[in-house]
Amino acid sequence: MVSRMGIVFDIKRFAVHDGPGLRTTVFLKGCPCTCRFCHNPEGQALEPVILRRDDRCTRCGACVEACPAGALSLPARGAPVADARCTRCGACAEACVFDATEFVGREMTVEDVMAVVSRDIIFYDESGGGATFSGGEPLCQAEFLCALLDGCRDLGVRTAVDTSGHADGDTFARVSRRADLVLFDVKVVDAARHEAFAGVRNDAILANLRRRSEDGGAMLVRLPLFPGVNDDDENARATGELIASLPRRHGVDILPYHGLGAHKYARLGLPYAGAQLAPPSPERVAEVARTLAGFGLDVSIRGDAWEPPRD
Ligand code: SF4
Ligand code: SF4
Ligand code: SF4
Repeated sequence: MVSRMGIVFDIKRFAVHDGPGLRTTVFLKGCPCTCRFCHNPEGQALEPVILRRDDRCTRCGACVEACPAGALSLPARGAPVADARCTRCGACAEACVFDATEFVGREMTVEDVMAVVSRDIIFYDESGGGATFSGGEPLCQAEFLCALLDGCRDLGVRTAVDTSGHADGDTFARVSRRADLVLFDVKVVDAARHEAFAGVRNDAILANLRRRSEDGGAMLVRLPLFPGVNDDDENARATGELIASLPRRHGVDILPYHGLGAHKYARLGLPYAGAQLAPPSPERVAEVARTLAGFGLDVSIRGDAWEPPRD
């Protein structure tokens, strides 16, 4: 039985980095991983979260007044903070006319999502695009995701699922057989290093990577690259070896760290582990690309095909 309702935290139309062509990317809430530098920390919890922006808050107190749980108080500086009594009702966000409080995550039906996805069918057809389901980890809401993928199929919209691959094999298989393309993140190959980075073991991830390749569906492996964390030669070689060992040929797209999610941590009231982290140098990115290409893989960087420089 597939679920007709799930929790969505964003929908981006005309996305160009989430698969081929122009796409509508639907972000589903919930993720079992706790990756350092996660660029969508507001998507990790399955339930809605509140983002607050100190730079927009006038400290008018309207949200404090509106809170039915009495959970909000104004600190000496900055936007109000909520305590454990918060029920995530969203009344504070509705009361804020300065857009300083944002309620992230809302229940949507499959039909709600399809109504948005179907608006741009003409652009998908012209560009070779479609709908991408991302997160969080979209497999966290597998039943809803399956229903969304079925809905797209019924509309004739091609689909991609952007995943960490962290799910049990049956769940992954049910999603995988419905998706036209899987964008599969492989962050660290070594098991202990992966657990230290993402907070989960990668056994299931690696098994699902192989499962997708064996199933014969299209897959692009993506390597988010964090300087000093996973951009070393050892991990680059292990990643190349892993992808080259799969039953079918798959490209690999390097996604250099950009730090664009950093501001979200402050809005969530969370510390950000990447405060001192700079994007990897172009030379380092090229070195990793060269290592991967050495395994006979088609390599791209943020979607642009990479060629070794000619001497
Ligand atoms: S978050 Fe909005 S409603 Fe609350 S004090 Fe700030 S400006 Fe006023
Ligand atoms: S979400 Fe609801 S309970 Fe939580 S702080 Fe806002 S108004 Fe109060
Ligand atoms: S898998 Fe993705 S959404 Fe989940 S914590 Fe890691 S980077 Fe964030």
